[in-house]
Amino acid sequence: MKKLLYLVMVMALFFTTAMPAFAESQSKPNGPWIQPGQETKLERFMDPEDLHKKLEQIEDRAREGRMELEVVGHSARDEYPIYVAKFGEADTDNPKVFLQTQIHGDEQGGTEAAIDLIQQLATSNNQDIRTILDNVTVWIVPMLNPDGAQIIEREEGQAKQRRNFQEWTPEEWGLSADAPAPWYHGTDWASGELGYDVNRDFHPDLSFELNEENTDLLPGVGSEPGFFVSPEARASRDVFEELQPDLFIDHHHRYSNTVSEDDDRLNTLQLIAQVVDEDNVVSYDGQDYQVSEESLELSKQVNSYVYQALQKGNSPFGAVSRYPDVNLPGTALGSYSMNDAAIMLYETRGQQHPNGHTGQKSSGMLIKQSYIGLYETLLGLANGEVFEVDPAFYDNEIPTDSPSIGRPNN
Ligand SMILES: [Zn+2]
Repeated sequence: MKKLLYLVMVMALFFTTAMPAFAESQSKPNGPWIQPGQETKLERFMDPEDLHKKLEQIEDRAREGRMELEVVGHSARDEYPIYVAKFGEADTDNPKVFLQTQIHGDEQGGTEAAIDLIQQLATSNNQDIRTILDNVTVWIVPMLNPDGAQIIEREEGQAKQRRNFQEWTPEEWGLSADAPAPWYHGTDWASGELGYDVNRDFHPDLSFELNEENTDLLPGVGSEPGFFVSPEARASRDVFEELQPDLFIDHHHRYSNTVSEDDDRLNTLQLIAQVVDEDNVVSYDGQDYQVSEESLELSKQVNSYVYQALQKGNSPFGAVSRYPDVNLPGTALGSYSMNDAAIMLYETRGQQHPNGHTGQKSSGMLIKQSYIGLYETLLGLANGEVFEVDPAFYDNEIPTDSPSIGRPNN
């Protein structure tokens, strides 16, 4: 009851301005589509410079001893710092959470939500925030791909890009010049420049390095691990190795779906607790990597808990479904889930459209949805409620097979 009251209060606070947009989205899939010709302003989302300023401001105002802000790496082209905001120690018996956003540079809402969360954790004296800080360690990497997060001006409109900006450099790894690039290296739709999809660049062996001995693994395929060739993936990997989290959350965006065959509400969020099959064993350098039963159970509890939290009261965020089944050991989620971390893919609607549009009207609401889901996860781990969830809820109750829908204006 207390939780319900809390949610209602949070929503009352957040929704005073966004009301009309979400009222429309309750019915048929006629949600807050952007209109033809309507300008999209990506300036309203943080770029790498804004993030830097914002984090410094928060650090200045943080309560004594709460937050440590560190640089864990630099982006491939422009060498922007990649930050981690640390709340709590790695050496603890408390549950440990690693939250990462914007591995895809055009998926900016997660970073906005993460900054709001960092600010609350650093500065608020609210009882629930103190409960989280006392009972959970949480390390947050906002904007893992800062190069991709920069605005690109195009004839079709502004854009940010999914990939990083990086050439394939076989000589860097002591390979011959004709060694094929990893399969996930290519041209980004936004800039026309070469880069990696950083979210395919992970290997379950966290110490993996490309060299002459393993060059036969190139170019690889989607159902196999990646190669840790991007500094962005290596920065994430370093945070994972230092923290050894119980739970890894990766925030992404997606295009539009309805909830399920039987529920035609516009889907605002898809979750998934598993991105690698249980019987998929990756053997490398004398080690076997596989999803463990224990971490999979916690993954299902966390995903179910968030689903349930978003259904409460008159929540405008109830249109949640499961992400389609995938088998991707080369993603951050995949690789980390094969290293005993529970996982949650938190994929909100609001992907930028390749012709330069983004669902501007609804983006504020979607950032709030992210904030609430992430906040509830931390609170549920802190007060132990997550561990009481029946993991079977995940398999039995969260809607699956969301049909994709086209944009009615196009
Ligand atoms: Zn993504």
